[in-house]
Amino acid sequence: LLIDGLGDGVWLNVKDLTSNETESGLYVKSFIRKSESKEKVINRLLFNILQAARQRISKTEYIACPSCGRTLFDLQETTEMIRKRTEHLKGVKIAIMGCIVNGPGEMADADYGYVGSGVDKITLYREKNIVRRNIPTKNAVDELINLIKEDGKWVEP
Ligand code: SF4
Repeated sequence: LLIDGLGDGVWLNVKDLTSNETESGLYVKSFIRKSESKEKVINRLLFNILQAARQRISKTEYIACPSCGRTLFDLQETTEMIRKRTEHLKGVKIAIMGCIVNGPGEMADADYGYVGSGVDKITLYREKNIVRRNIPTKNAVDELINLIKEDGKWVEP
């Protein structure tokens, strides 16, 4: 409905969503991070819905490949690690792709690409262009942040 333009806000029943007895309550519970309140999770969920429907952009956007036999790193762990450090960058789009064979072609309109290019090697993209090739994985997130800083898109959390 939001994507079709038939609304511009979201309302959820907080009582149900914070209950341990409803399916939606248990679903919300599964998203709660350490020392985070349920209300905060619900708030995040609502902003996620608005952002997914392009009604309101309030945070970083991530595009990740589904992973397959070619994936060169733990996609979930890596996405979480990148998300933790960059999720406050409103409107910036970061693609996290498991391999360089198909990853760059599937990054859509991402501003930055973090792409597996070998064992323990990451290649970073600015839009469709390679800007750091085959850097060691342990430095890759710092390098991604440096790149965002170089472009003037970084803000302190
Ligand atoms: S980008 Fe590479 S690793 Fe990811 S799903 Fe596509 S082929 Fe597999």
